Amino acid sequence: HFQSVGFIGLGNMGSRMANNLLKAGYNLTVHDVNRDVMKMYSDMGVSTKQTPFEVGEASEVVITMLPSASHVLDVYNGPNGLLHGGSLLTPRLLIDSSTIDPQTSRKLSVSVSNCTLKDKKDDWKSPVMLDAPVSGGVVAAEAGSLTFMVGGTEDAYVVAKSLLLSMGKNTIFCGGPGNGSAAKICNNLAMAISMLGVSEALTLGQSLGLTASTLTQIFNSSSARCWSSDSYNPVPGVMPGVPSSRNYTGGFASKLMAKDLNLASASAEEVGLKSPLTSLAKNIFAEICKNGHENEDFSCVFRHYYSGKDE
Ligand code: NAD
Repeated sequence: HFQSVGFIGLGNMGSRMANNLLKAGYNLTVHDVNRDVMKMYSDMGVSTKQTPFEVGEASEVVITMLPSASHVLDVYNGPNGLLHGGSLLTPRLLIDSSTIDPQTSRKLSVSVSNCTLKDKKDDWKSPVMLDAPVSGGVVAAEAGSLTFMVGGTEDAYVVAKSLLLSMGKNTIFCGGPGNGSAAKICNNLAMAISMLGVSEALTLGQSLGLTASTLTQIFNSSSARCWSSDSYNPVPGVMPGVPSSRNYTGGFASKLMAKDLNLASASAEEVGLKSPLTSLAKNIFAEICKNGHENEDFSCVFRHYYSGKDE
């Protein structure tokens, strides 16, 4: 469906996703506030623009991959943002893959559908937005094996699918606008809590005389089995190739987990939901970050919070 794709936010994730779009043969136009990144792309022969608005002017679809909601709002609604100039838009589809709160995704989706298309080529009536956050991290972004959780209209999802599949291996339609963002923060909330549960139980087991390897073997063939025990074990030496076995380097930074837990907590508050474990997990990861471990993988919660070796 699309040939010209704009990409804004070429950081750890975005640069790898954009590279996969180039490999798939899309005609790419990019923007980032980081001049070094822009230079790298222009040296590669990719068209670079000074503002999000100019990226929009050159693209049928624009993808954003930015740190947080404030950056996304800036890129959409800022003075030279994608929606600058009122209601006439060139891109027919705007896809935000950043992890942000569903409320912001919903507001932006309304702003986008209130705009008019500059060039009505087919039966596409107005511009549409999809929230399409990802799971998989930097390794999956590089390999093109991300999972996209998509919120918006089903028609737009169907049209966007092949584009998303050039950066990922799975796409899941989650329902209306904001539902992709909601799915992402719920996934990360469950992941944080399972990591805390596994870490606490393994610490207790060790204190009661069991080795972490034996207890992990039990969990993985019993009802405590989960991703945090069988694929991302937090105890150094239990499992090769995971962050805990390389001093908690690489992987998913604690500061990103802290950010996602803040989003989950704010969303729970907004809908008036009691969420005791969300609050606890949020406080634990805030403390981990405050103590200087914000760049370590989030499974470092085992070492810094439970084993007590470091603090
Ligand atoms: P990052 O900080 O590495 O990259 C963000 C990029 O956006 C940077 O290059 C920055 O210069 C650029 N940027 C910031 N403000 C901008 C603006 N106003 N205009 C243009 N460019 C701007 O972040 P990342 O790790 O690539 O993560 C991006 C998003 O993906 C976040 O929401 C994160 O939570 C989510 N995410 C990250 C991972 C991961 O493992 N890193 C996994 C899943 C989801």
